[in-house]
Formats: sequence, C-alpha cells, structure tokens
Amino acid sequence: MIQLKGIAAAGGISIGPVYKLGSEEFIVVRDAIRPEDIPAQIQLFEEALIKTRREIIELQKRISSDMGQEEAQIFDAHLLVLEDRMLIEDVISRIKKDQLNVAYIFSEVLKKYISVFLKIEDEYLKERAADINDVGKRILRNLLGKEKKSLDDMKEKAIIVAHDLSPSDIAAMHTKNVAGFITDIGGKTSHTAIMAKSLEIPAVVGLESATVKVKAGDILIVDGSTGVVIINPDEETLHDYRQRLEKLKGIAERFLSVKDLPVTTTDGRVIMIYANIEFPDEVSSVKLHGSEGIGLYRTEFFYMNRKDSPSEDEHYQAYKYVAEALNPHPVVIRTLDIGGDKFLSQFKIPYEMQPFLGWRAIRFCLARPDIFKLQLRAILRASVHGNLKLMYPMISGIEEFRQANQLLSEAKEELRQKGLGFNDQIKVGVMIEVPSAAMTADILAKESDFFSIGTNDLIQYSLAVDRANEKVAYLYEPAHPAILRLLKVIIDAAHKANIKVAMCGEMAGDPSLALILLGLGLDEFSMPPQIIPELKYIIRAIGYGAAQKFAEEAMKLSTGTQIEEFAQNKLAEILK
Ligand code: PEP
Ligand code: MG
Repeated sequence: MIQLKGIAAAGGISIGPVYKLGSEEFIVVRDAIRPEDIPAQIQLFEEALIKTRREIIELQKRISSDMGQEEAQIFDAHLLVLEDRMLIEDVISRIKKDQLNVAYIFSEVLKKYISVFLKIEDEYLKERAADINDVGKRILRNLLGKEKKSLDDMKEKAIIVAHDLSPSDIAAMHTKNVAGFITDIGGKTSHTAIMAKSLEIPAVVGLESATVKVKAGDILIVDGSTGVVIINPDEETLHDYRQRLEKLKGIAERFLSVKDLPVTTTDGRVIMIYANIEFPDEVSSVKLHGSEGIGLYRTEFFYMNRKDSPSEDEHYQAYKYVAEALNPHPVVIRTLDIGGDKFLSQFKIPYEMQPFLGWRAIRFCLARPDIFKLQLRAILRASVHGNLKLMYPMISGIEEFRQANQLLSEAKEELRQKGLGFNDQIKVGVMIEVPSAAMTADILAKESDFFSIGTNDLIQYSLAVDRANEKVAYLYEPAHPAILRLLKVIIDAAHKANIKVAMCGEMAGDPSLALILLGLGLDEFSMPPQIIPELKYIIRAIGYGAAQKFAEEAMKLSTGTQIEEFAQNKLAEILK
C-alpha cells in the first residue's frame, strides 16, 4: 500500500481499478523492405489513414449526440491533420527512397513534425503539435494493427491516471465508466479541476509522479476532498474508505433534502445561491441541484476546440437557450475571457512569457472590438428572452470598465439601426479579480450594477501564485488574511454604493469558508451546481449575526492555516 498526496480538485471518494491514459509506448521496429514491397507499404499507410479517419468521424458523431456539436468540433483539427498533403507525401517519398517499413518511417516523420511545431513560440502552432501527436498515435496504432486505447475501451468503471488532461479528454469523460481521475500536474483552480467538479468526478491533481508510481492492474482509492490517493490499499483501509463513502452518501442525501428550499439564515438574511456553467447543456444539472440562477456562464468554452469563431447567431442561440431555460431566474454571462491558461487557436494569440499577466480577457476584447461587439450584440439580443445580466472579466480599473461600456453602447446602437430588440436596462457588472480593482472597488461600485468576485484569479494575483502550478499550490490559500481583508474592502465598498456582491470563484463553493463569507456580508454565492445543496444546507443552519462575529474572530488570526482550521472546526460543529 502506498499513499500519495496531491491537490484535492473535485470532491468525493472513488475506489476502483486503474486505467492509464496516454502512457502507451509503441515499439516500432526498423525493417528494410524490398523494392517490390513498396506499393504494399504505401497501401498499408493509406488504409491506416482511412481507418483513422473513420474512427475519428465515428467518435465525433458519438460526442455530438452525447454532448453537442461544439464538443465534437474538437476533432475537426484532427481530421485536418489526416489531410495534410505535406505529411502524407513526406512519408510516401521516404518509403520509396529509404526502403524501410511504413510504421518506422511514419513514426520518424511524426517525431520530426512534432518537434518542429513545439519549437515555434506560437501557442496556435503548439496546439497543432498536440493534434498531430494525437492523430499520429491513432495512425500508428492502426499501422501496427493495435487496438486503440481510449476511454471507450474501458471495460469496467475505472480511475484514469494521466500526466495531464486536456478539455477534450474531460469532455470525453461524459461516459459513465470514469470513476475518478488523477494527474501529475495541475492546480486546484485549473480548468481540469473546474471541469471535473462540473462532471462530478472525484479528482486529485498535481501528484507529480502518479504516472510513474501507479501501474496498470493496481487498485486505487481517490479521495477528491482531501487530495489523498492510495495505491493498492490493504483490507482495513478499503473497509475504512467504504465506510466513509457510505457516510458521504448519507450526508449528500441530507443536503439534497434542502435543495429546493430558499436560503435564509436562521435570523432571516436571504442569500442567493447560483451556479457556474461552461456549457448551455448544464442547465439541467443547474435545475437538478436547486440553483436559483446562473452566477457565472464562462462563455469562452464556446470558442474552444473549433477552427472558426462562433457567429453572432450561434452565440445568440446559446444565450437565448440558457435565458429561457432559467427564466425568470438571473443568468450572468461573463464576456470572453481568454488568455492565461485558456488559449483559442483561432485568434492566434502570440506566445507570452506570463500569459496570466498578459493579453487576457477584457484586455484582448478591448483590442479586438470586432470580436467583443459580436458577442455583446448576441448577449443583448438574447436579453429579451429572460433575465440576462453581463459582466466583464479582469477589469483592473474604472477606465477599462468605461471603455467596455462604450463598446456596449455601440453594440446597442448597431442593433437599434438593424431594428433588433434588446433590454436597454440590462445590468452590467464588474468581476473583481485583480487587486487593483479590489482596492478601487469604491470607484467601480459607483458605475457598476453589481460585483462578482473572481477569487480564482484574485488569489493568484494577490498572493503571486500561479493557480495552475502544483509546485506553488501550497501557497494558494483562499483563507489567507490578505484575501479576507481584500474581500472585506470589496464587500463594504459595494454595500456603501447599494449594490450586491456575488462571488463566483471556487472559494464560494468551499463549505468551510461559507461562514466567513456570509459573515463578511457576501450576498450571492455562485459555484459548480453539485455543491449547491451542501452550501444551502450550511447557510440555512447558521445565523447571520453569529457568522459576522465568527468572521470578525477569524480576521484576527494571522495565518491562512489557522483561519482554515478555525472555520473547519466551526463547520464540524454546525454539521454535527
Ligand atoms: C475567477 O477567476 O475566480 C473566475 C471565476 O474566473 P475563471 O476561473 O474563469 O478565471
Ligand atoms: Mg477569472
């Protein structure tokens, strides 16, 4: 039995066999061929290309019907690689020239292509390297007559072990066979972690060497709440975790019993609990978990894994669908937030040394009014179908907010000229996720309809900790006194200006910190849908007055660890 400790990414416990992804190595032998075998080798290559094409189209169809067209478009780039004349001709000419077996030639050409793409300092081209690698492995597998190893081949419910997982890997996990996953890299608020929560898959990331320590055939326990992974547990440990699992189920049922009740503290303060979504089809989960609306719709996922950008009409249809599905509840649409750890190949954003501090979110949108206004027009048009609000990410000061609003006015004017309807009174908020915005919250509050605190970024920028880097994850402390002080500044400034403050970063869904956030005066909490019942349960069990006192006490402590511990003990008392 070996115990590993990583970063708790998505809660829950799962126990099961291992399924290693992406670790397959092909042994490709170098074989000389006779000149008369050349046509047969070329034919083998062509057959492998056709077979691979068929597999990808099949996969695309399945994903399209299971998850929607958007997710299926991930594979368009893979199909393009299969049509790359240069790559195909390179392989064929080398078979003729070198007179070696096709599998060997292809694997050599593949390596050359990938290394050339990886050397180019351009994110778009780097992403192409990953596509070429993915497709290349499929082709090689077919050339060698190997069965493909993908999630579809999992015979039993298993725990995925991988070095890293991309959004397209996570999208494929919509299948029932994934019991959990663990990865070598990644942080608590990386996209992998956020998506795992959305799909309710227990996950531990940032284990550093899980792919080396875990072997095929092992049995794992993954505790996504504590970040503990146990390889080949003994009977006693298994028994212990099975009991914990049962207990968790009991607790979940207790939480679910309140999911449709309003959230009012024992002394009458009404709190709104909203959901974070990335895709429109998550509205069913939002409703299932009793959310009162959507506090963060991360629209950039709409642009991901496709060659082109969505048209104004595609945006409009998506927003209309969500607005209508939740009407009259509010839906807060966050405008395009790319950059950082989210790259969109179609915009060809140049490689940056520090992408989180670079051309990201509103900075990109203000520089590209064509892209920004297209989205704004779609949001405005959809605003007649429900209770839509919009907010801008990564605002660092009032000037940026005004510039964004200027473009919003232009978008409105363009719609007026076309005679298209929209809600002229649509509420516009600022995401507070940059320390400079937090410290000038009083200025921003005067012109903003609401605030939504993006703690994922606010914490990384305030504590100087890359949110996706497991090496510095120990410094990523939501309960750090500096963060609590910033939150207080933001909330007090908003209330002074009579506007509401929401929080849509992962911190809002941290049960042990709910008490402090409530006590600091937070009005609205927005989180992955499945955490909602638990948060509702907790907030309904406490009094606002008591929470205020508790927050005051917590603010007197000097370290994040102390505050976290203090809050956890209090929560245990409440949940007893
Ligand atoms: C945040 O930064 O807290 C946030 C909600 O936005 P994102 O996680 O998409 O950066
Ligand atoms: Mg953010």
